[in-house]
Amino acid sequence: MKDEVIKFVELMLSELNRIIKIMEVCGTHTVAISRAGIRGLVAPKIKLISGPGCPVCVTDDKDIDKIFQLAEKGVTILTFGDMVKVPCDGKTLYTMKAEGADVRIVYSPIDAFKTAMKEPSKKFAFVGVGFETTAPTIVGALELAIKQELKNFYIISFMKTMPGPLKFIAGHPELKIDGFILPGHVSTIIGRKAYEFLETEYKIPSIISGFEPQDILVNLKELSLAIMKNEARVINGYKRAVREDGNPKARELLERYLEPCDAYWRGIGKLEGSGLKLKKEYEKYDAEVQFGLVERSVKEARGCRCGEVILGVIEPTNCPLFGKTCTPGNPVGPCMVSFEGTCSAYYKYGE
Ligand code: SF4
Repeated sequence: MKDEVIKFVELMLSELNRIIKIMEVCGTHTVAISRAGIRGLVAPKIKLISGPGCPVCVTDDKDIDKIFQLAEKGVTILTFGDMVKVPCDGKTLYTMKAEGADVRIVYSPIDAFKTAMKEPSKKFAFVGVGFETTAPTIVGALELAIKQELKNFYIISFMKTMPGPLKFIAGHPELKIDGFILPGHVSTIIGRKAYEFLETEYKIPSIISGFEPQDILVNLKELSLAIMKNEARVINGYKRAVREDGNPKARELLERYLEPCDAYWRGIGKLEGSGLKLKKEYEKYDAEVQFGLVERSVKEARGCRCGEVILGVIEPTNCPLFGKTCTPGNPVGPCMVSFEGTCSAYYKYGE
C-alpha cells in the first residue's frame, strides 16, 4: 500500500512543471493532511498551506472580549471546550472561571438549551462560533428556545460564512494561491455552485474534498492537473456528500432566523456580509443586544503571529514562539488552542 501511494504521488508530481501553491481552507483538512503526512509527501513541488478554516482561530479578539463582558455582567457562559482556553488581553474564560465567573462547557447547542431550561433563575449565553455547518445546529437550539418561550437563554453570535474570506484570499495580490481545496463540511450545506465566483471572477481552480487521506490525494491530483491546464473550474471531489445546491432545508432554517452582517476575522479584519446574526424579530435572544456589549480595545498576545498563519503568509514554525513558549499545554494564540488550529496540527504531527 505504502509503495502504491508513493508511486501515485510521484506520478502526480511528475506532471507538474512548476511549484504550485494550494491552500486547504478547512481546519479539518489541515489536521487530516498533517496527520497523514501529506504536506511533506508532496513538497516541495506542491506547497500546501493552511487557510482560515478553524472557527475558533478566526474569532477576533474584539469578539472574544465581548464574551468576557458577558461573564463580567454575571451571565453564565455556555461554550464548546476550545473557546475557554483562547487567550485574549492576558486572560481566558478559564482564568475568569477561576476568579468566580460561571463558565460551563457544553457538547452541543441543544445541551446549552437544556441547561438553560433546568435553571430558569439564571441567565445563560451560548457562544455561537462556527461556519455554515455548525450554524444550523445553533439555530436548532434557538428555535427550541423560541418555542418554549425561554426567557433566560441567549446566543452571542460569531457565526461566519466561507465565501467572504475566500474572495479576500483569492483577490489578495500577495498571496498568489494557485488552487483551493474547499471545505467538505461547509459544502454539504452551501453546495458546489456557491463557489462559482472562484472560476468566473478569480479564475482559480478549486476542488471540494472529503477528509480521508485517499480523498485528499486523489483530489490533489485532479486539482494539480487543472492548475497545469489553466482550467479554472470548481470541481466536486466529494460527490458522496456534496450536491450542486447543497442542503436547501438547512439553508432555509438559517434564513428563517439569521441574516448576514459584517464580521471581524482574525488576520483579515472586517469583511462585509461574512457573519450571521439573529434577525431583529429574535433579538430578545441576542446576547450582544440584550446586554449592551461594546467594542473595547484589547491588547493582542505579544509575539503571536496567528493572523499571518491563518492567511498562509507564514507557517507555524516561522513563529518564534512555536514549540517554545507556545504549546498546546500553554497556548499563546488560538491557532495553538483549537484541535483544528494550524499551529496545533503542526505541533502534534510535525510539518
Ligand atoms: Fe500564535 Fe503560538 Fe501559533 Fe505563534 S505558534 S502563531 S504564538 S498560536
